[in-house]
Amino acid sequence: MGVERRARATSGRLDLVPEGDVVLRTARRLHAALAGRLLEGCDLRWPSLATSDLTGYTVLEVRSVGKHLLTRMDGELPLTLHSHLRMDGSWHLHRTGSTFTGRPAEGVRAVLVTAAWTAVGHQLGMLDLVRTDQEDSLVGHLGPDLLDPSLDLEVAVDRLMADPDRQLGEALLDQRVLAGAGTLYMAESLFLTGLTPWSPVGDLASPERLVALLVRMMTQNTVRPVQSMTGDLRPGQQNYVHSRSGRPCRRCRRPVRVADIGQAPQQRPAFYCPGCQRGPAPALSRPRAGPQPHAR
Ligand SMILES: [Zn+2]
Repeated sequence: MGVERRARATSGRLDLVPEGDVVLRTARRLHAALAGRLLEGCDLRWPSLATSDLTGYTVLEVRSVGKHLLTRMDGELPLTLHSHLRMDGSWHLHRTGSTFTGRPAEGVRAVLVTAAWTAVGHQLGMLDLVRTDQEDSLVGHLGPDLLDPSLDLEVAVDRLMADPDRQLGEALLDQRVLAGAGTLYMAESLFLTGLTPWSPVGDLASPERLVALLVRMMTQNTVRPVQSMTGDLRPGQQNYVHSRSGRPCRRCRRPVRVADIGQAPQQRPAFYCPGCQRGPAPALSRPRAGPQPHAR
């Protein structure tokens, strides 16, 4: 898959890129609809969970950890349904009994039915069911959650600076370092920091400022109708560089570029401005011409 195609896939078909802020919003919506409610029906369309039935369980809470969603339930024993949206996943709510037509039925991976609301998980990237006291087997590897209100900035900075030779973009995408940011927040925060994604972590003049910036950008977007990095909510005006390769930088007018960050097969698209961001960049990264359906 080419870098541009992966970039489009990263943007997703929806208006929202499923990074930590979107996952937190999803958790809030699901929690408001399901918490305290009895599951009257359940359909898990996932090979390893085909025989699992959560009917009769009561949803206790839905919360996010980084980009992971945890739906905690009580029944015969406390269980947690873990899901991850990856690039294209989403959860939708509709009134129980009404026909849901928002997404193709073949993409449905999970259905949780309460008397009032039905939650439908589409194109989920992961789905697991574990005892609640074993959640750590699924999320214990994560670094500090950038959207955790009790985030210790000092601990987060220490995690980021643990390997000063590592490329900044790779470190920010590594959920074991800091949990919640993906290609969108990595690209946009590094544009505002003025370093390319291939710069070593040790080049950061103020890692505290970068972590605080990430927290602020992501937190602001948990309450906005759309994700915006620029503060402008109009379509096409929301991002500085992400999904804007070939288009003029909003500051210096040079074409925004995109190139891979990370080692194959884990590489991801990294957007940057060669004028505004100093530091190394792959020699072959070129501005791309032509329309980009998900330019943001
Ligand atoms: Zn620029």
